[in-house]
Amino acid sequence: MLFRPFAPRTLLPLAALAVALTLAVALTLAAGRTADEPSPVQGAVQSARRATISAEPLSDRRVHYDLTATLHADTKTIDGTARIVWRNPDRVPVSELQFHLYLNAFEGPETTFMRESGGAHRGFEAASDDPWGGIAITSMSLFRGDTSASDLLPALEFIRPDDGNPNDYTVARVVLAEPVAVGDSAVVDLTFTSRLPEIVARTGWLPGPTNRPFFMVGQWFPKLGVYEIPGQRYVPASAERGAWSTHQFHANSEFYADFGTYDVALTVPADHVVGATGVLVSESANAAPVHTKTLRYRAEDVHDFAWTASPDFLVHEDTWRHVGIRLLLMPTHAGQAERHLKATRMSLEGLDERLGTYPFTTLTVVDALGGANGMEYPTLITAGTFYGLPAWFRPLELVIVHEFGHQYFQGMLASNEAEEAWLDEGMNSYIETKVMDAAWPGGSVLDVAGIRISGRDFHRVAYTKNNPSRGALQTKSWEYRFGDFGKASYSKPATVMHSLEGYLGEERMDAFLKAYVAEWRFRHPTTRDLQRVAERVAGEDLDWFFDQYVYGTAVLDYRVDGFTSRRVADSLYVATVRLHRVHDGTFPVPVRVRFADGSTRDQIWRGEPAWENLTFRGTSPAVEVFIDPDNAVPLDINRLNNRRAAFSEHSSVFARRAQFRLTAFLQRLMFLIP
Ligand SMILES: [Zn+2]
Repeated sequence: MLFRPFAPRTLLPLAALAVALTLAVALTLAAGRTADEPSPVQGAVQSARRATISAEPLSDRRVHYDLTATLHADTKTIDGTARIVWRNPDRVPVSELQFHLYLNAFEGPETTFMRESGGAHRGFEAASDDPWGGIAITSMSLFRGDTSASDLLPALEFIRPDDGNPNDYTVARVVLAEPVAVGDSAVVDLTFTSRLPEIVARTGWLPGPTNRPFFMVGQWFPKLGVYEIPGQRYVPASAERGAWSTHQFHANSEFYADFGTYDVALTVPADHVVGATGVLVSESANAAPVHTKTLRYRAEDVHDFAWTASPDFLVHEDTWRHVGIRLLLMPTHAGQAERHLKATRMSLEGLDERLGTYPFTTLTVVDALGGANGMEYPTLITAGTFYGLPAWFRPLELVIVHEFGHQYFQGMLASNEAEEAWLDEGMNSYIETKVMDAAWPGGSVLDVAGIRISGRDFHRVAYTKNNPSRGALQTKSWEYRFGDFGKASYSKPATVMHSLEGYLGEERMDAFLKAYVAEWRFRHPTTRDLQRVAERVAGEDLDWFFDQYVYGTAVLDYRVDGFTSRRVADSLYVATVRLHRVHDGTFPVPVRVRFADGSTRDQIWRGEPAWENLTFRGTSPAVEVFIDPDNAVPLDINRLNNRRAAFSEHSSVFARRAQFRLTAFLQRLMFLIP
C-alpha cells in the first residue's frame, strides 16, 4: 500500500475534473482499443502457461482455496462458494480453525477499523447513500469424504483478539467436533455473500467514467488465519503446540496469510474486463445467467487472491522475460499507457537485479479509481495517476515501483503485516528509492526548474519533519500513537536502511538483501530473522544498530560545535574540533577536516561521549569541518549543523537559507503525493 497521510482521496477531485475534461477524447480513443485488446481466444491461449516458473512448489502450500464468485454489478454484491483445505502443520492434533472476515471492517461505524480511522465515518466521507459493506457466511460444513458433512455454522463464533470490541466481526473461529490429526487436512465448504463497500481501504466499488461501477475486489472471501507451529516466527521452538495468529482489521494494519494454491471461477457481466491474481485458465460465455461470462484462474504459491472488473478498462499487453504484463487502463488515461508499461518493465528489471527473480508468470497492473489505487496483491497491483501528469513529476512511476516491490516483501516474504508492518512497507520503501533514484539520479520524484527531489530525500524529510523520536519500527500497527504509523512503517525504515547501507557499504548491503530474500522467501520472516541475515552477511554484530533504530526510538543528530587551528611547528598545524551529540542516538561516522592546502583528514566519531574534542594534524591551517561528509547516514535529523567553515560564512548562510526553503517545500509536497 502507498501511505496517504490525509483522506484517501487526494487525487479524486483531480480525477473527476480530468474525467469531465477528457471524456470526449477518451471515448474516441476507446473506440480504437480493439487493436490492443486480446480476443477471449488469445487470452485462453496465453493462460495455458504455468502460474510460476518453477516445476516444484515454491512454498509449503498449507492451504488450498476453490472459490467461485458471481458478481452482481447492480447490487454490488458477490455470491460466493468456497472449499477451503487446511493442512495441519503441527505435531499435535488441532481442533480449531480461525478465519478473517475482513470486509466486516466496513459494515458499520463502530467496527475497530472505523473507530480507529478517527472520524472518517462513512456517512461524511462517502459519496453514496449506502457506502457500507460486509460479508455473511450463509453455510459452513466440514467435508468428510464418503461420510456425511457436518454442519459447522452453529459452532462459528466471532472473536476480538486485539481490543475486545463487541462491534467488530472481522475474526471468527470454529471449534471442530473432531480435531484435525497430525499431517491430516480439514476440508471446509462454505457459501457466503459479500457486499462490496464504496471504495475504502482499497476495496469496493466506485462509479466509473461511464457511470457504471468499477470494482476492486480485495479481502472478499473468508480467509484462514495462520496457524504458527513451534519455531515459526515468535512461537518458541520448545512450545508444546502452535497457535493461531489472527488480528482484527485495523485502520493501519494489513494482512498475513499462509501460502497455497487457488482455483477461482469468476462470473461477471459479459462486457466487463477482468484482471486477477494468477493465470487465466479459461473464459466462456454463459447461457445463464444471460449476458455473463465465467473466467477461471489458477494461482500457486500465493497467500491471497484479488480481482478487478470494469466495463471501461482499456487493455494493453506486454512481456518482460518470462512475465506476461497486462495493463488495465482507465480511458481517462489512455495517453499514459506507455508510461505505465515502461515503469512496470523498469520495476521488474530493478527488483530482479536487487532481490532476485520474480517467479510468477503474470503481472497485472490496474489503473484503479480513487482510493483503490496504490495497493498490492499477489501478481496484481493497482497504480494511480491523474490526467495531464507532467513528465517531471513521477508519482505514477513511484507507485508502480512501490507496489511491484511488494511482490517481494508482501508477496514472497510475506511477513506479518499487522505485527511488523515495517518489514513490508519499510523495506519496500527503501528498495523503491533505490530503483527510482537509479533511474533518475538526483531527482527521481520531482525534477523541475532546478528543484530536484530524490526518493531518498523524500523519505528522509517525511521522517525528520514530525517528532522523529516517536514510533519504533518494531511496533504492532494498531499500537502506534496517532500519526506515527506512516512515518514508522514507511519513511523511517527507508531512512534507517539507507543509513545501514551507509555503514555497511553498497556491496555488503546488496549481498544482505539478496541473501534475505533467497533464504526467507515463502517463509514469513520476522525482524529477528532479518537482523540475523544482516549480521551474518556483514560478519559483525549489529545490535547497536537494531536496538537503537529498529527496536528503539533513538534520534541521531551530531553537530560541529566549533574548531580551532594552531601552528605547532614550521609546517605542522593542529586542528581541534569540538563535536556534540545532541540527542541519544549514536552512529559511527567519519569527521573530515579540510586544510587550506586542500588536503583532508578523516577520523571516525562514535558519538560517545556526548561532547568530545578530536585533534587532526595537517600542513596548513584547517578551513572546514564536516561530519559525515559523504552524506551516508540520512538518519542524522539535522545536517545543517554538520559543517563548519572558517571562511565564506556568507555563502554558508545563503546555502542554509536555500536549504531551509527546500525543506519547507518538500514538507508541503509530501501531502500532494498519493
Ligand atoms: Zn506499500
